[in-house]
Amino acid sequence: MGCLYIVATPIGNLEDITQRALRILREVDLIAAEDTRHSRKLLSSFDIHTPLLSYFKDKEAGRAEKILEKLRHGLDVALISDAGTPCISDPGSVLVQRARRLGVAVIPVPGASALTAAVSVAGFPPGPFVFLGFLPSTSSKRKKFLSSQVRETKPSVFYESPKRVVSALKDCLHVFGDRRVFVARELTKIHEELLNGTLQEIVDVFSGRKKIKGEFVVIVEGATLQNNTPETHDLHELLSWYRENSSLSMRDAVRRIAEDIGASRSAVYQEALKVWGA
Ligand code: SAM
Repeated sequence: MGCLYIVATPIGNLEDITQRALRILREVDLIAAEDTRHSRKLLSSFDIHTPLLSYFKDKEAGRAEKILEKLRHGLDVALISDAGTPCISDPGSVLVQRARRLGVAVIPVPGASALTAAVSVAGFPPGPFVFLGFLPSTSSKRKKFLSSQVRETKPSVFYESPKRVVSALKDCLHVFGDRRVFVARELTKIHEELLNGTLQEIVDVFSGRKKIKGEFVVIVEGATLQNNTPETHDLHELLSWYRENSSLSMRDAVRRIAEDIGASRSAVYQEALKVWGA
């Protein structure tokens, strides 16, 4: 039985590949790659000419079987993705699970990942954080998902595309209020940019730009005791909490609560009039 190596590759700067990754990629019989054309360029820049086999998300199950067949025949295989560490918001988990079930040794060859690179420079207190991968792509689904995270006290890390990053930041502002955020753009590349501020400040920075380019990691601070709303669906209690503990206007508090607990805005509004009128 062959070995399956899960090998991290650079997220931009080619110098970030490890000595061990280069040796493994040279020594294995086959490299399974998300996009063979993309990976061929990377490998030839290191003068590596190991045969490539494609392993991409839409055909993960079928491709995994093909690779398992090679492993069964004693060939060693390395899995790489387009950038960073495979299986982190990238294909690979189907292959890893099936290989392990088959008794194949699955060996990590760690290295670059946008997740760890961003966390390492964010300056948030050390300790746990939550990795959300990519957020849902439509604003309504995204807000619904973010609402489920509103009481999370750990910082949340997510990946974003240039197309959606501004609307995702605006949705965070809408759901979480004006929390601290760290945005890493184009990590390890020429146009690397690290932005630190509140959600509103960063939205303003991006709104002033003609075009948003690059790849993004966003880290939003968790709920603090002050914005950690009570675990209740009692309208009066929730509204009173917002009135006393947040800077939201009555209108914004109504909207937030209606979304959070799935109540109609008019019902929340009627109750809000009593709380704000008291
Ligand atoms: N497996 C990769 C890893 O370990 O980082 C992540 C793959 S995921 C499909 C691609 C996303 O990662 C991008 O949309 C972006 O959010 C983030 N990303 C990748 N490279 C990046 C970079 N150089 N700077 C900032 N974010 C990056």
